[in-house]
Amino acid sequence: MLKILLQGLGEFEINLLDWLSGSLPRFLPFSIRFKVSDRCLPVSISYYNSKRLQFNASQILQDLLSLFKKTCFFRILALTNHDIYVEGLNFIFGLAQKPHNMFEKTPLVALVSTSRLAAGLRESDSQIFKERLLKEVVHELGHTLSLDHCTRDCVMRFSNTISETDLKPAYFCSGCFNKIRFYMSNLLK
Ligand SMILES: [Zn+2]
Ligand SMILES: [Zn+2]
Repeated sequence: MLKILLQGLGEFEINLLDWLSGSLPRFLPFSIRFKVSDRCLPVSISYYNSKRLQFNASQILQDLLSLFKKTCFFRILALTNHDIYVEGLNFIFGLAQKPHNMFEKTPLVALVSTSRLAAGLRESDSQIFKERLLKEVVHELGHTLSLDHCTRDCVMRFSNTISETDLKPAYFCSGCFNKIRFYMSNLLK
């Protein structure tokens, strides 16, 4: 059976990874097993931009792609609480590698940051925080499953602010759902 690795970076709470591993399967149109990595991987300080006070997400992603090149996992889902960016944007919630074509079998990586997900929340709002996290994780995972951004009522809608994250659902619209099924059936042929 296909497996996805949930990998913490830096000092990431294992509890949250456990919670994600239990919550994610019902959003995906194929059966998959999630495994939580029991140790976090360090993030290289060379990816830190001291002018922006943020980590370069593209560099972290490239690093993980080469690290996990030969892994048996289908996808690597990396989570960090560092604030991350790509050139041209003030910050991003996450970044993922899309497959180059329908038949590419190399493991792909998605990266999600929790740094901005507690914005405007009180300690007691942990449920909202978890919903936001789930949405961003499902979204990035969607990219690794060949999806582009979507303008419908769909988790693949692009969010540039936390209120846009709050407004979108955690699930795929029927169009995106079917695209993933099509992608997976080609891949597993
Ligand atoms: Zn996106
Ligand atoms: Zn959609």
